[in-house]
Parts: sequence; structure tokens; C-alpha cells
Amino acid sequence: MSTTLPTSIREARALLESKKMTAVELAKGYMERIQASDKDLHAYLEVYDDVLEQAKQADARIAKGETGPMLGVPIAVKDNILVKGKTASASSKMLESYVATYDATVITKLREAGAVFLGRTNMDEFAMGSSTESSAFGLTRNPRDPSRVPGGSSGGSAAAVAGDIAIAALGSDTGGSIRQPAAFCGVVGLKPTYGSVSRHGLMAMGSSLDVIGPLTHSVEDAETLFSVIRGRDAMDSTTIPDDRPFIEQKKVYTIGVPRSFLTKGVDPDVLAAFETGLKTLEKAGHNVVDITLPTIEYSLATYYIIMPAEVSANLARFDGVRYGLHKDGKDRTDDYRQSRGAGFGKEVRRRILLGTYVLSSGYYDAYYGKAMQARDRIRRDAREVFKKVDVIATPTAPTPAFKIGSKTSDPLAMYLEDVFTVSANIIGIPALSVPHGTAMRDGVELPVGFQLMAPELGESTLFSLGKVLTGEQA
Ligand code: GLN
Repeated sequence: MSTTLPTSIREARALLESKKMTAVELAKGYMERIQASDKDLHAYLEVYDDVLEQAKQADARIAKGETGPMLGVPIAVKDNILVKGKTASASSKMLESYVATYDATVITKLREAGAVFLGRTNMDEFAMGSSTESSAFGLTRNPRDPSRVPGGSSGGSAAAVAGDIAIAALGSDTGGSIRQPAAFCGVVGLKPTYGSVSRHGLMAMGSSLDVIGPLTHSVEDAETLFSVIRGRDAMDSTTIPDDRPFIEQKKVYTIGVPRSFLTKGVDPDVLAAFETGLKTLEKAGHNVVDITLPTIEYSLATYYIIMPAEVSANLARFDGVRYGLHKDGKDRTDDYRQSRGAGFGKEVRRRILLGTYVLSSGYYDAYYGKAMQARDRIRRDAREVFKKVDVIATPTAPTPAFKIGSKTSDPLAMYLEDVFTVSANIIGIPALSVPHGTAMRDGVELPVGFQLMAPELGESTLFSLGKVLTGEQA
């Protein structure tokens, strides 16, 4: 049975539609696979106890003649997205026993579309990290090489898709957390335009940067999942009105490459894979040109000021009183100290401290204020460049998947993983990572990710070019 299980949304839908397989059979098949291989991978923190019940409901809808792009399709959900009645912990001790009281908007939409939620996936605590090693509940292994990390923070979601224990998965991306794990695991990851997908029910990390998006086997599947979760939401005032049009598709695109930005600290194998990707695009008739983006190299520094500032404000709600873990101290202040000290891991505490510092009255102008100015400049520069090119291309990450434990004691080395991904979050534009080429390490061919960034609402451009790179479209 498991050998015939479909691995893409498209295949699954074809089988369900033609009645060659029921949603219950499909869900059962996936649960068996999870049982067989997730002991080693640890992509899931929990497999839900009502999967078959959900699948039964999907079958009932199919029997009534209903159809739809996600009806009966089993997917995984990152542990920072709320599913009513289920634990949502953001891989933190702070929320270990927190049960969501409502569905995130993306979950409501997917439930209406008939998707089957398999369970919640492991992640870096509160989405802070690039390796899933900062989870309070153990690490996740990369299905391509179990001695390596799956990337992060949506490492569980990427590993679930790459390991064929979910057809697709939801992740969240604040500075690369969908794209970098997608690149490390050899799957497709889309960070949508800021505000195109509702953040209602997503645990906030950096509210001006966060967005939910799909991790899938193909670009087509990412497009399908995105089309179901996107849209204006009254519960999130930053969502984009539905009548604002997406950028239309073209036949020939101009791809801009910020060459001078690609020289420092990038693995030669990653660069070689990136060059073959550019050739693939050229062969398909598109134009590749060099561009200069003088401020893009300040993105990482800007991100690591704005993000912790927002983190420190967003995580203030975890005070041991309103949510999650509570520890008794000597007095109320000590209650906070004890609860937050015991509930948050090292990386989360580091970022709260950093954020509190850059927002403190004596340093606000020097750090946070400056970073906001830099953000404006980076945005303006990008807008200028997008007058000349349709997309900007870079590798997704400077390295292929690294060994478990190799960067945990060096936070700055970990932060450098985000050098190519954070710009899209700073600017608010969509970006797609697709697997293209490999890097050989210890006899294993590790996947490499190719990143494309488009202007706001340029998702269809990303899908067209992404399909050329994956071979889904000539
Ligand atoms: N790796 C980045 C960080 O640690 C991105 C996190 C994210 O996108 N959630 O901040």
C-alpha cells in the first residue's frame, strides 16, 4: 500500500477524484509511514488523534460530489500555528501544555477546503533559529542525511515533506524559516508577499516580518496551497485587500543577479549550483543581467535589530500569568523572572535581551531608529531595481545543510545562514526557494536551494520561473 501512496497534492487529488483511493486510505497510509520513519527523523511533535475522523469527513464530502484542490489531502502544520483544541507549543517549554482555543485563519480556510491535518511539526523555539536545534523537545534530522540539520526554523515541516511523511506542510517565515529549510531538505518553499496570508492565529515573532507559507514537493503544489490560504482577513488588519491584483505573467522575464553580494562567505558548490540555475533560466529564453543593490548587504544587520526588537515586545505576553508555564517566586517580579527563566530557552532569552536593549531609551536612536532608516533605504533600492528586472536571484542559503551541533555554540555563524533570505522579509516581497543542483558532502548529494524574489504580489512570476528550474515547465 505505502509504495503506491501519492507524494504530491496533484497526484493525491487525482487518485481521490477518480475514487482509486479514499481519503481514509490516504491518511492511514501516511500515518503508517510516520510510525515507520518519524522515530528517526522526529519531524512531528505530535500526530493528531482525529486524523482518520477528519479523513472520513473528507470522504463524505467527496461522496457528495464535492471537489476542491485540497479536499482529502493530508498535510502537516508548524507548531506555532493554532489548531483549535490541539496543543500549540512553538517548541517551547513555556507553552508545552497550551491548547489553542481557536483556529488560525489559514487553518479555517484549509478546513473549509477539506484538508486533513496530520499533526504539528518541530521547529526552533518561537521560530528563532536556522537548524531546529533550539526546539525544547529535541532535534529533527535531515531526511537526505540524518547526521545533518533540516534547517530552520520550519525544519520539522521541511523534513516531513522531504521524508514523504506529509504531502505538504505549513511553515512560517520571518527571516527565511520556510525557504532555508526547504533548501536544506530539497523541497519547494514559498514566503508569500507580506499581508497576502493572514497572521491571525500565528504566534507572533516579528509582526512586521512574519508570514505563513507552504512547503511542498513541487512549485505547482506550492501554488495550490497558497491559493487556498491567501486573502484579506478582517482578523488581521495588515492583510492586503483582495481586489489588489497580482502581477500578471509574462513570456520572457529579466532576472537580476546582485553579483557583488554573492562573493563573501558563500560555499563554492552552492555558487556552482546557482550558476547552473541561471543557465537553465537562460536556456528557457529568459534574460539574466547583473544588478547592483548597494544596500542589500545591510539587510542582515538591519534584520537582527528590528526582529529582536519586535520579539521582545511580542514575547512580553508570556509572563507566567496569562499563558503557559508558571513558577512561583518571592514576589510578583520574581514570578516573572522564574517563569520566563524556566520557560524560555537560551536563544529566545538572548533575543529578548537584545531587543530590549535596542529599544531602551538611551540606545533607541542609535539602533532601532537607525535600523528603521536602513529598512527604508533597502526598500527604496529594491523598488528602483524592480524597474529594470522582474526578479532578483540569489542562492537561498550560503551553505548546504550543516552537521548537527556544528553551529550551536556560535550564534553569529547561525545568523549568517540568513544572509540571503532576510531581505525579502525586510522589504515585504515574495520569495521562492526551489531545489536546483547538489553539493557533495561525505559521499552524499545534498540539495541546494535557488532563491527568486519578486516585487509585492509577484507570486505568479515566481511560480513561472520556479517551474522552469524544477523542470515542471520548459
Ligand atoms: N533564521 C532566522 C532567525 O533565526 C529566521 C527565523 C524565521 O524566519 N522565523 O531569525
